[in-house]
Amino acid sequence: MFNDSLKQLSERLANRAISSVELTTEFLRRIGKLNPQYNAFITVNEEKSLAQARRADQKIAAGEIGPLTGIPIAQKDIFCAKGWLTTCGSKMLSNFVSPYDADVIERFNQAGAINIGKTNMDEFAMGSSNETSYFGPVRNPWDAVAVPGGSSGGSACAVAARMAPAATGTDTGGSIRQPAALCGISGIKPTYGTVSRYGMIAFASSLDQGGPMAKSAEDLALMLNVMTGFDERDSTSLQREKEDYARDLSRPLSGLRIGLPREYFAKGMSSDVEKAIEQALDEYRRLGAETVEVSLPNSSLSIPVYYVLAPAEASSNLSRFDGVRYGYRAQVFQDLAEMYRNTRAEGFGAEVKRRILIGTYVLSHGYYDAYYIKAQKLRRLIAQDFKNAFKQCDVIMGPTTPAVAFDLGEKSSDPIQMYLSDIYTSAANLAGLPGMSIPVGFGDKMRPVGLHIIGDYFSEARMLNIAHQYQLITDWHQRAPNL
Ligand code: GLN
Repeated sequence: MFNDSLKQLSERLANRAISSVELTTEFLRRIGKLNPQYNAFITVNEEKSLAQARRADQKIAAGEIGPLTGIPIAQKDIFCAKGWLTTCGSKMLSNFVSPYDADVIERFNQAGAINIGKTNMDEFAMGSSNETSYFGPVRNPWDAVAVPGGSSGGSACAVAARMAPAATGTDTGGSIRQPAALCGISGIKPTYGTVSRYGMIAFASSLDQGGPMAKSAEDLALMLNVMTGFDERDSTSLQREKEDYARDLSRPLSGLRIGLPREYFAKGMSSDVEKAIEQALDEYRRLGAETVEVSLPNSSLSIPVYYVLAPAEASSNLSRFDGVRYGYRAQVFQDLAEMYRNTRAEGFGAEVKRRILIGTYVLSHGYYDAYYIKAQKLRRLIAQDFKNAFKQCDVIMGPTTPAVAFDLGEKSSDPIQMYLSDIYTSAANLAGLPGMSIPVGFGDKMRPVGLHIIGDYFSEARMLNIAHQYQLITDWHQRAPNL
């Protein structure tokens, strides 16, 4: 049952083979067994989850069953959920019980899904290993000495370890795709503006985008069908017609043109990752696709540009955490200024402080033109590279990460090495394009490898189709660690 797809679970619920209360109880039990070691969840609330499950069972009994009704979903602790502790992985919000639901949470509630718990994450989604969480690191279920990736490492671990059938994540520079790759699951960051950011705690607002993490592309499609849609409470939410992301799943791939960026295959990828990627590309050729070489000449700029723009936006977004309205407040202070200083000094971790300092610096008078404006111009060129590439191909493929999961502690004292984990993923955020990762095998030490697929704007249904066709002829996505 823990390996079932969302569709299979929904069928079991529909034909009353299992109730939502039973299903939820099974997953809560598994969390109880595995979470002490893996630390994928910050908050589990049996009472709340089971109350939702009882309501779902009533709906099912009344014949009101949708694709996710009664199904437990793990929610990244960046999404505000009414009555739930919502920490964003930070001491700053370690006492914050949200008074309202994020748009994403509302949509899952309306769909009758069960919130099975709030997943661990890097503090304010800043990180690539989950080691910046105030609540301690998450471990990789394939190898407990390895990181699960970040910042949505708790969600990736929860799905890979079968503690939840599916989860939500957010991706500012790679935080859905990178942990999905390192934990051997599937994840998609949709086109910017597709999933509402309302109630999703802000990191870098022009890059942040929510999305699903699940075992397969088919499951991702069902999740996206629930998560997406216009929301007037998010000024960058796109007003588009609702689409069915599963509509193209069974389309054959003959004639598909896959672009392989010269820059991604030139150097930087480790040989075990390269081997798995080449094998996956061979499968695609067997499925009738052809590969063409394309160029993204500004690829090497995406990390430097990202690490100017993301901290700039973060420094502004995080100014709201001042100890006045909500969240942590220092105990000891003489006056207001000292209260602000002590609260922020005590409430934020080292990586968050580093980003605030960098962001404040690049936005300050005298440096703004040299860094922030320059980065904005380069961001445009990076987006233009993709526009040019998509004249020659339908999708772009490459590795999601340059190497398989690294060990806990291996990069935590070297921020630059950590930042390079997102070398292939951050460009999609800068351009606003959809990107996904699917498991395509194992590299060194039997740690998972992810294939990265970048599509043109709004091509999610096609990307899911491309991933699904591969998953029909391979079984990497069905592999689970033996726990
Ligand atoms: N690893 C990147 C960072 O630390 C991306 C994080 C994210 O996508 N939220 O900023």
